Amino acid sequence: MKKDLEKQNDLAVEDGLVVSLSYVLRLDDGEQIDSAASDDPLVYLHGAQNIIPGLEEALLGLKVGDVRDVAVSPNEAYGEMNPDAFELVPYEAFPSDLELEEGMGVRMVESGTGRQVEAYISELRDDGALLDLNHPLAGETLYFNVEVVGLRRATSDEIAHGHAHSDHTH
Ligand code: ZN
Repeated sequence: MKKDLEKQNDLAVEDGLVVSLSYVLRLDDGEQIDSAASDDPLVYLHGAQNIIPGLEEALLGLKVGDVRDVAVSPNEAYGEMNPDAFELVPYEAFPSDLELEEGMGVRMVESGTGRQVEAYISELRDDGALLDLNHPLAGETLYFNVEVVGLRRATSDEIAHGHAHSDHTH
């Protein structure tokens, strides 16, 4: 058993490894918007674009127990704010029992493709709700404090699926 642990500790983050990560995510103003504790870490497959590119790149080569502060610029995270990604939707298009509020998240079905799109109500205007189709973290630099809490080689199933497996996924 001890031998297995030592073996695991020799691994360094690279493509094809399943990484367990504890982290705290803050915005520019210090506001904490997300976190994962070491006993309930984020588990992902490295090299499979499971996480934002800027963070994935920064983790390359880290070992279990390594701690890093990583700042990820918008173009390596959720992109810059697109000023054209706003759409005015007339109030008739919303369910009548839905009480609309600024900042509220809504799900729209894109006409044509039928694809579901997440959006936020940016402004309630006289003629409708102005929806912001940008990712809520667009334009934000993300500040991660991360610790690698586990590393193991991915199974062939995981590589084939492009994601890590836990007890709950397959
Ligand atoms: Zn799978």
